[in-house]
Amino acid sequence: MTTFTVSTDDRTEIIDITDRVEAALPDDATGTVTVFVRHTTAGIAVNEAESRLLGDMAAFLDGTVADSGWDHDRLDDNADSHLRALLVGPSETIPIADGRLDTGTWQSVLLVECDGPRSRTVDVRVSD
Ligand code: ZN
Repeated sequence: MTTFTVSTDDRTEIIDITDRVEAALPDDATGTVTVFVRHTTAGIAVNEAESRLLGDMAAFLDGTVADSGWDHDRLDDNADSHLRALLVGPSETIPIADGRLDTGTWQSVLLVECDGPRSRTVDVRVSD
């Protein structure tokens, strides 16, 4: 397994990490790769990394979950971040062939920040 870190700038932000995931793969890797974040207020998704769409995704998550009024806010005031991350999930498993992601033309690997700005750790784990 290898890891890399991503610095985020906004509270809700979608970042294309496809190149960094591919760079973490061994040259001859085949099978699947699991991309996982060890965080409860961020997630991983596979979708199109068109710049306006990335903004739409952030707006969708912000608009879908109310910012306040949750019980967890009495503890650390970020229940909305946890709930947005819950919708996305912490990982994706993606096929690989010859050290490259074996994905569709428009599919990218996205880090979904729900409580930034922060530094996030991404795990990249290859399985046969
Ligand atoms: Zn919390």
